[in-house]
Amino acid sequence: MSISALVLFSGGQDSATCLAWALDRYDAVETVGFDYGQRHRVELECRGAFVQQLRERFPAWGRKLGADHLLDLGLLGRISDSALTAEREIEFANSGLPNTFVPGRNLMFFTMAAALAYRRGHKVLVGGMCETDYSGYPDCRDDTLKSLQVTLNLGLDARLVIETPLMWIDKQQTWALARSLGGEALVDLVREQTHTCYLGDHRTHHAWGYGCGQCPACQLRSKGHAAWIAALAQGPRDALGAQGPAS
Ligand code: ZN
Repeated sequence: MSISALVLFSGGQDSATCLAWALDRYDAVETVGFDYGQRHRVELECRGAFVQQLRERFPAWGRKLGADHLLDLGLLGRISDSALTAEREIEFANSGLPNTFVPGRNLMFFTMAAALAYRRGHKVLVGGMCETDYSGYPDCRDDTLKSLQVTLNLGLDARLVIETPLMWIDKQQTWALARSLGGEALVDLVREQTHTCYLGDHRTHHAWGYGCGQCPACQLRSKGHAAWIAALAQGPRDALGAQGPAS
């Protein structure tokens, strides 16, 4: 039976790696992104460039890759008061959550993606959420998304599956996963054509890609990359971390 998937693709490192994971695994893949009034448009601009390069450098994946959908969720930006959607410094609230938290974001994303998947006949929704080394966003948690899967299936009378391949791996292992899926060519593409920086800096270049190097997203990305490079120097098995084969 042919299985098709819809990947929530933001243009960042995590969702780009998830897109490759889905193309490696499923028969047909479409992508969906959301314009929710992000302060920095560069992540959305990276989406198109990444997909185009992916098609050119990985023709077998390109043949499975179908339409890209960009949905307007401007309402979410207007009702949230977040450092990602308004001109504000990144800081921590009393709750312990950084003010980059956009309340309801992943709940809304998956609900919209499920509605689209229902219409397009997709069986699987894939997202890059992770609770291993994350910012504490409660809607990135495995339990949140498992509960949402049940709710969506009840509400749609469907049997959709939410897959989150990065949920239990850290950033070092996310780099290793990209390499195991598409070799150095995919690592290069993720490094050069994805955007993670909260401050929207896509001019300053580092060994791990573009970004300010200071914001929490850049720090996670750069630390993960440095740890992965150090592990690679120890030998390929170590670099794969938990992804590696058992001895
Ligand atoms: Zn940054």
